[in-house]
Amino acid sequence: MKCRICGQAASIALRSHKIAFCDTHFLIFFEKRVQTTIRRYALIQSGDRPIVAVSGGKDSLSLWLFLHRMGIAADGIYVDLGIGDYSRISLEKIKAVADTIGKKVYIFHVPDIFQRGIREVAKVLRRVPCSACGMIKRYVMNRICVEKGYNLLLTGHNLDDEAAALFGNVLYWKKDYLWKKDISLDEDEGHLSRKAKPFFLCSEREVAAYAIISGIDYIYDECPFSKGAKTIMYKNVLGNIEEASPGTKLMFIKGYLKELQEMKQRFLPGNLRTDEAGDGYCGVCGYPSGGGMCGYCRTLQKLEIPYTVEFEEYG
Ligand code: SF4
Ligand code: ZN
Ligand code: ZN
Repeated sequence: MKCRICGQAASIALRSHKIAFCDTHFLIFFEKRVQTTIRRYALIQSGDRPIVAVSGGKDSLSLWLFLHRMGIAADGIYVDLGIGDYSRISLEKIKAVADTIGKKVYIFHVPDIFQRGIREVAKVLRRVPCSACGMIKRYVMNRICVEKGYNLLLTGHNLDDEAAALFGNVLYWKKDYLWKKDISLDEDEGHLSRKAKPFFLCSEREVAAYAIISGIDYIYDECPFSKGAKTIMYKNVLGNIEEASPGTKLMFIKGYLKELQEMKQRFLPGNLRTDEAGDGYCGVCGYPSGGGMCGYCRTLQKLEIPYTVEFEEYG
């Protein structure tokens, strides 16, 4: 197999695009595609001050490096969940990239604030770790954005993540979530930053190839709490479909985005966002809450810890 551009031996074949590339031309192809996505969906606009949610994994670190290469200045945010070596190694990888690209990273340590790791926090809340983690991450990341003046939070979600989540929502007809998997979410000035996912149309394999060819040292291990998650099963099912019929995942997600735009225009001229802006704001911290006290404040109250949000700044 040869590279479509230079005719040298190809290092990666992209069956969904019916194309193969050498390392150099794959990087060019990938970066152009992401730039096109950013432009087409207006994910990053002039005057934006973006920040990247980094986890130490390939997706978020690739996004951070991609932005740096494109000349888009973006700092990072990391939520340390207090999961032993996994959290420690993740942070080491993040700091290494921050040093390389000369950017700052805000670090929120769950154990410092909640006096225990995410597993124990979840136990107190009688929730599964992923549910407690999602709630704390959403709160803290948004809070840091608003407090530090970043109006745009970028995440490394890729095509496989989005297709698996959508597949699960369709499978169980989770109507409340179905139309919320947008490529970007609007801002609620002073309370919620805008959010966007530049890798929305890039497969996990493409992002992994970008990370490896670029020499990014990321954490290979998945979070231990991801084991047995339904999304992994959905990814496998979709992977089998993709194998038999290349391009299906991309069609699924592109079709969804098209339907979503039409839905917005037809039914809700503003947008379909109803999850975080909710009906009001938390009486303790003043940040958006679906009703009454927000999840973050309720967690602190349950643990009998006075309200606090503190984070470390590295770099
Ligand atoms: Fe958080 Fe669950 Fe993801 Fe781990 S697998 S980072 S606990 S959401
Ligand atoms: Zn080439
Ligand atoms: Zn609150």
